Amino acid sequence: MKPNLLIAGFVLLCGAAFLTGCSDSKNYKEIRKVESVQVETPEGTAPRLPYLVSVTYADGSKEWRQVKWMNSARETEEQESGMAVGSEYTVRGYIIGDSTEAEGYPLDAQVKVVGTAWEVPARVPQAQPLPLGSVRLIGDNRLTSNRDLDIQNLLSLDITQELYNYRDTYGLSTDGYTRSNGWDSPTTKLKGHGSGHYMSALAFAYAGTDDPSLKAALKANIKRMVDELRYCQELTFVWDPALGRYREARDLAPEEELMGMKGTWEAFDVYKKDCTKYGYGYINAIPAQHPVLIEKYAPYNNQDWVWAPYYTIHKQLAGLIDIACNVDDQEIASKALLIAKDMGLWVWNRLYYRTYVQTEGTQEERRARPGNRYEMWNMYIAGEVGGMQEALSRLSVMASDPTEKERLAQAAGFFDAPAFYQPLSRNIDDIRTRHANQHIPMIVGSLKQFQATGNEFYYNIAVNFWNLVQGRYAYAMGGVGNGEMFRQPYTQMLSLNTNAQTRRNGETSPDPNINETCCSYNLAKLTKDLNCYNPDDARYMDYYERVLYNQLVGSVHPEHYGVTYQYAVGLNAAKPFGNRTPQSTCCGGTGAENHVKYQEAAYFVSDNTLWVGLYLPTEANWEEKGVRLRQECSWPAESSVITIEEGGRFAMKLRVPYWATKEFKIKLNGKKVGRKYQPSSYVEIPEREWKAGDRVEIEMPFGTHLFYGPDRMEVAATAEGGPSTQFEPMWEGALMYGPLVMASPDITTWEEAEISIDAEEIEAGFDGNVHKLSFEGKTFYPDYYMTGRGTHYLRLNAKQSD
Ligand SMILES: [Zn+2]
Repeated sequence: MKPNLLIAGFVLLCGAAFLTGCSDSKNYKEIRKVESVQVETPEGTAPRLPYLVSVTYADGSKEWRQVKWMNSARETEEQESGMAVGSEYTVRGYIIGDSTEAEGYPLDAQVKVVGTAWEVPARVPQAQPLPLGSVRLIGDNRLTSNRDLDIQNLLSLDITQELYNYRDTYGLSTDGYTRSNGWDSPTTKLKGHGSGHYMSALAFAYAGTDDPSLKAALKANIKRMVDELRYCQELTFVWDPALGRYREARDLAPEEELMGMKGTWEAFDVYKKDCTKYGYGYINAIPAQHPVLIEKYAPYNNQDWVWAPYYTIHKQLAGLIDIACNVDDQEIASKALLIAKDMGLWVWNRLYYRTYVQTEGTQEERRARPGNRYEMWNMYIAGEVGGMQEALSRLSVMASDPTEKERLAQAAGFFDAPAFYQPLSRNIDDIRTRHANQHIPMIVGSLKQFQATGNEFYYNIAVNFWNLVQGRYAYAMGGVGNGEMFRQPYTQMLSLNTNAQTRRNGETSPDPNINETCCSYNLAKLTKDLNCYNPDDARYMDYYERVLYNQLVGSVHPEHYGVTYQYAVGLNAAKPFGNRTPQSTCCGGTGAENHVKYQEAAYFVSDNTLWVGLYLPTEANWEEKGVRLRQECSWPAESSVITIEEGGRFAMKLRVPYWATKEFKIKLNGKKVGRKYQPSSYVEIPEREWKAGDRVEIEMPFGTHLFYGPDRMEVAATAEGGPSTQFEPMWEGALMYGPLVMASPDITTWEEAEISIDAEEIEAGFDGNVHKLSFEGKTFYPDYYMTGRGTHYLRLNAKQSD
């Protein structure tokens, strides 16, 4: 059945929940059959259950639907993980957004406990994304305009601001350098984080542009950063005749001296006068005494102690590694890698000689001696380490000297967080109530540690985390968090409905403080890396597409540069654009990177296969194969044409997005390939000799569907700290059009957000070149396009019976 567009929209929105509202003869969304769920789980683990299942409706059509599993209580997961081999049990689940029962449409997962471990892929990823510099965004669209805006902004920044703190920290004159600001200002102990993001953003921007003058300007800045950082770093190469070697990290502040060390600004002024004490290879925008202080458990206190010393070290290491990976000037790239490697080895040296792990005893006992990493990394904010595991593992993979390789991998392991990792390695949800953006980079790091060491423990942590996030924590945009925190599983709607702010003008209306943009940046990174190990599993790029199209692209103001911290989701919510520099805040930092790397996961390759992960207007150069191709489409795309410009022998795999339930067609040189495609899979054009001029045409018209919240709405806050109002319990859902979350500027109250889906047909159209849906007198635009207020989640008025 291929209904026309208007009917299709209507049809897709008529869930079983709305049966009575749909015309009697068209019970399109009455669930008739649900794919059975049978899972084998290794002894000692909680079962990995799918967050989507395939359902068949009464009319024979199929769709992926979200499931809420009822085993999410920590106690239940612990019980499950204690079951003996051979045990069998059932986990009840419900398809959300359905009114067959109070919780939804019931289904059971049959779980069997087995004596074998989860299957883990080989340490070396099966596929790699084509490098950023090998894929070019083309055309005139929101992607290219955002990219250009980001580059212009980067070039408008005063580079001396990004260098000021290094001059200051290494006792050099700051004449001619402008004091930095934001979180890199001389009075914040997080300084250096912005310089790190700045270097990453410069590197990505350089790799992603062809414009010779932009490229030259970006390169000049990259070179200056690298040259000046190396100059400072070399000041720490101090030969000590008494030791018969260079002074190393371990020589700084022997234990007795450490115990008397202070963290005040006066003390810092003393430390920075003598950078020869820092130890070989130290590079940071703040003295080496700063990271060392947390060995005596110095707390987060910007005035008297520390902020998050290793968090900033990570950003700077990442910046240097990103330069090494993305800049095609060998001299600059090698120097950046050398700086990062020397600093990585400083970290190894300090932690190897001066720290240890002791998990037993009371906190007082564990802190009896300085340097217990269990305590160091467990401190609020002070112990936040960003992606140290990630940076050090990347360095280990890139290093050629075997000893250095081993030490860098070992250093990455020093940042293990047993309290967080152990439960997750058994698929026990220890995500709940943790700080979101503190912990997501640790998972990115965990996967990189798998690549560096081959230890399966690290892989399982990453996969389990990703799966749990999908169903239990993500909003329709793909982002997570409420006030920067993960809350209880399956409570996204409670978070959204009860988190309200009072506007500056004093008006009291809901304006949720949720869905931090840094989290989406890091979740995209994790997903790209997981996809390298699972390139045939389309769930990864389905999610990458969700978070890229619906949060990252929309997180920069389209006309004047400014990026979001929290991201609008909910009722009549606006994106708080701001953060104009990488040093402004964490989201200013990740925000500077977001818009110059949209193409990072467009294509993946192995020896003989090319995966098209995203339908983006791009040119791609697969250098190893000598293959070049051009993908022409609008963005977002309902159709695309891939033309081979230089051929070669390989298989091509094209993603069939999860939302492509309406139609998906592929033609190769005008001839149809295959007949039926399964949404959320890849379709393969088998290995063949591709010739210049070969054309692949893809058609995937958008239809509408709902992305449901897992918990029904029962209360909502109308103002910050104000009373919550009771509402008739209803499902909530975001209206999706193809991959796009649609938001309406015409809905400003929860009453208006109540939609009787069955009342009107949905009309699809365009406003200029922007997709638009209309029904019940309300217009919906893609969220990425919205700059003003909009409503994303609707209250779905499901009549139970006539
Ligand atoms: Zn942030």
